[in-house]
Amino acid sequence: VASGFFRKLLGSRDRLPRAFADAIAELDELARTRPSLADSARMLRDILPALHDDTQPTPHAQLTAESAHARLADGIPLLRGLQLDCDAATLRERWLAVCAAVERHPPGKPASALIRAVRTGAVSVAELLMEVLAGRPEGVASRAETLGIDAPLTATILRLTCLPLLAAVAAGLEPLRRQCAWDHGFCPVCGSWPLLGEFRGLEQARTLRCGVCAASWDFPRIRCPFCDTHDPHQLGYLHAEGEQDRWRAATCDACRGYVKMVACLDALPLPRLLVTDVATMHLDLAAADRGHFVG
Ligand SMILES: [Zn+2]
Ligand SMILES: [Zn+2]
Repeated sequence: VASGFFRKLLGSRDRLPRAFADAIAELDELARTRPSLADSARMLRDILPALHDDTQPTPHAQLTAESAHARLADGIPLLRGLQLDCDAATLRERWLAVCAAVERHPPGKPASALIRAVRTGAVSVAELLMEVLAGRPEGVASRAETLGIDAPLTATILRLTCLPLLAAVAAGLEPLRRQCAWDHGFCPVCGSWPLLGEFRGLEQARTLRCGVCAASWDFPRIRCPFCDTHDPHQLGYLHAEGEQDRWRAATCDACRGYVKMVACLDALPLPRLLVTDVATMHLDLAAADRGHFVG
């Protein structure tokens, strides 16, 4: 019997918002023109509709303006250690939908163990989310290992499952955030390292984007988000031939970190943020080949 969530999901496929429709068109084009990315593009295409849900009320983060400002001034992400009053049933259903999409796409790793873990109640998605917000992503990995499920896959499915919820929370916190400076390489909302960065508009100012809550924050061009090095001799770029104006990886020789940078006119909407991450996977491989790693 289809649950309410799945009925909603099936019913909403034909009327996805413009940003999702654009992202799906971009994934179709990627699958057609870049055979090495075709499997990843098709998988994300299948996952995306599960990430659209505008029917859930956004949980309100219990933060006063005063405590938000104090946190940001102290370099503490806004959601660190906060309880989010989220709808556990919706998270659970979305987890199952994302796992099912992953399973449909070989060589995607089998997600049946993750489906079972949540169905039997061995894992609670809301509890895993609390580990992330507490600044303990390693807690998710150790929970997965205890249950004998794939830890990196668990982290990816958890990130995608919670993204719509956290993006809505982050958007709600935007007015509070705009009043305060943030001078760190990790996300001011959830504390994660950036998924990628944008060189926006004609000015090409650098903005980092979080892949866990989709927040964006400005960050100097000549500085490493991971170790704060600003020695230009340690910082560099990697790019494929002819692509340097569009996609690059900003690398740091001091900590061996890197962050992918993309040129865009405006902030990438949430679905296109995920598409761009897939479209630039060749930069992840090139960076890894040269001994660079994220975070
Ligand atoms: Zn974040
Ligand atoms: Zn560094």
